[in-house]
Amino acid sequence: MADASRRRKTIGLVAHDNKKRDLIEWATFNAGLLLRHDLVATGTTGTLLEEALGVGIRKLQSGPLGGDQQLGALIADGEIDFLVFFWDPLEPQPHDPDVKALLRIAIVWNIPVACDRASADYMISSPLMESAYERTTPDYAQHIGRAIDALG
Ligand code: PGA
Repeated sequence: MADASRRRKTIGLVAHDNKKRDLIEWATFNAGLLLRHDLVATGTTGTLLEEALGVGIRKLQSGPLGGDQQLGALIADGEIDFLVFFWDPLEPQPHDPDVKALLRIAIVWNIPVACDRASADYMISSPLMESAYERTTPDYAQHIGRAIDALG
């Protein structure tokens, strides 16, 4: 599990096809800030980011092939500090359930999520990006320990 208080963050990046240009432009403009952190991206987004930024980054499967779910698993394991997810509001995706699941699990674990360029601009320029931020994680003990009567 990543140390949530460390200055160097792990940033997850995903963009749907119609939003990839947006993400690449944003990432290129903010390369100086972004490259102070560890980047992990879904497959195609990651390949484009590597070309644009000129560095190798961690790439998961392509989103529709399981990359969104892999990113969700990393969030559940406490490995992601900040998610940049430029999803397409105008076109249904073949992996809509995965998209919804990724957005949901980010909220379950109180991960900051930027879904458009303006939000990403605000977040990447936040002083919290460079400081030791202690993200509170909800207490799910009650949920985990709840009585399950189904087994009798
Ligand atoms: P991609 O996946 O980066 O492999 O295109 C993004 C997505 O979830 O659609």
